[in-house]
Amino acid sequence: MSYKAVFNEQQRFFSTYRTRDTGFRKAQLRKLKRLILEHESLFYEAIYKDFRKSRFDTFTTELSVILKDIDYYLRHLDRLSRPKKVATNLVNLPGKSRIYPEPLGVVLVIGAWNYPYQLSLCPLIAAMAAGNCCIVKPSELPAATMKVMAQLINGHFDREYIYVAEGGVPETTGLLQCRFDKIFFTGSPKVGQIVYEAAARLLVPVVLELGGKSPAIVSRHADIDTAARRIVWGKYLNAGQTCVAPDYVVVEAAVRQELTDALKKHMAAFDYKADAPHYTAIINDANFDRLTGLLEGAAIAEGGAYDRERRYIAPAILEPVQWEDDIMQQEIFGPLLPVLTFNDFDGLLARMQEQEKPLAAYLFSNDTTEQEHFLTKLSFGGGCINDVIMHLTNDRLPFGGIGRSGIGSYHGPFGFDSFSHHKAVLKKALWGEPSLKYPPYTQKKYKWIRRLLGL
Ligand code: NAD
Repeated sequence: MSYKAVFNEQQRFFSTYRTRDTGFRKAQLRKLKRLILEHESLFYEAIYKDFRKSRFDTFTTELSVILKDIDYYLRHLDRLSRPKKVATNLVNLPGKSRIYPEPLGVVLVIGAWNYPYQLSLCPLIAAMAAGNCCIVKPSELPAATMKVMAQLINGHFDREYIYVAEGGVPETTGLLQCRFDKIFFTGSPKVGQIVYEAAARLLVPVVLELGGKSPAIVSRHADIDTAARRIVWGKYLNAGQTCVAPDYVVVEAAVRQELTDALKKHMAAFDYKADAPHYTAIINDANFDRLTGLLEGAAIAEGGAYDRERRYIAPAILEPVQWEDDIMQQEIFGPLLPVLTFNDFDGLLARMQEQEKPLAAYLFSNDTTEQEHFLTKLSFGGGCINDVIMHLTNDRLPFGGIGRSGIGSYHGPFGFDSFSHHKAVLKKALWGEPSLKYPPYTQKKYKWIRRLLGL
């Protein structure tokens, strides 16, 4: 079955209006939840095979997120899909104004490999909640996880409603020829550009969830030990292969040594040795070679041992590092943590504001002026004060980038909105309308209109 044929089938199914029914959507979401819970062990086995991701990590960072997402939409779907009344402006009185959320149609989700379940299934769930049909193209790099999603979803759902398309670049290129009603892409800025260009040719709207270099700033007003513990957890989670991981740390020079010592202490305590069941492997040889290449000639203050056969790289701290160094010119996306220093907080923010806007930024400081300057002077997708990564676990916060780190957002109501059109409708009464707008135009009407508009 060609993807084009599935796309056509989905278009036909969408036009039957079945997905407009919120009862249908909820039933399908419940079915997906049941399917995942009944086959949980398959998910764990596949991801372990792909890059030795542990059951604990897979549950906390993938399956629980997916299942809670379904719960969120089951709880809030009626409210989210209800027409919303808004006030009607003076010139349209008497009348009523409403916003009708409606599904877009047939949408395409393209996933990335680093959280292969979450990044394919959470956009799918938001698309289903909003009443769309959907083709999902997970990343092909973790081959076993892609297979599990394809087998389960294609084996239990009608492909005219949702379908998992397996494949890599040629298949994705083929899919991009179809005129979807939206494309939701998660991946690198480089491929994001390819997707955006393909979408533009057909005038297809996009959400682009991209990456970049997300900084963690540690000021002398921080609780250094807590900062170090949280940075170590966030950086080495999934072996640094997290889009919102702190890419690098910039610490105030006065507390640099204290921070480095604390980072080392927590790295030792978290015990990321080669056979640690909780430490993930690097996804493939190409990324392994890229990362070990970055270690060559670098000043390694801690860790950095590696084993190509196991695709294991021990968490590393690189220090000293300068802004001009190679490692600061690309998203690291692995367990290497450069530590840079600063002396002037506002000067640092000014320097960062000149760079590409990151997907995330983190500040460790208990100084309210620094916190305020961080929020008002630095643009970034989202972030935390005194923590890392955790902002995206709150489904009341939108998750998405800005500038080169992305377009649009999702999670909770924002995911529903991303996959909905907000149809604006004015319902007008047949009585009580002043004749001001109708010709013939007179000076008197003109004056009244200006008066009514307050201009
Ligand atoms: P990638 O851009 O290489 O691949 C993403 C998807 O695009 C895959 O499904 C792949 O098959 C497809 N693809 C690759 N080349 C293509 C091409 N030429 N034409 C069409 N499709 C193509 O990204 P990745 O390596 O899977 O993920 C890493 C990147 O994703 C990092 O930059 C990371 O920061 C970013 N990321 C962002 C988020 C987010 O939520 N913002 C989440 C995870 C990862």
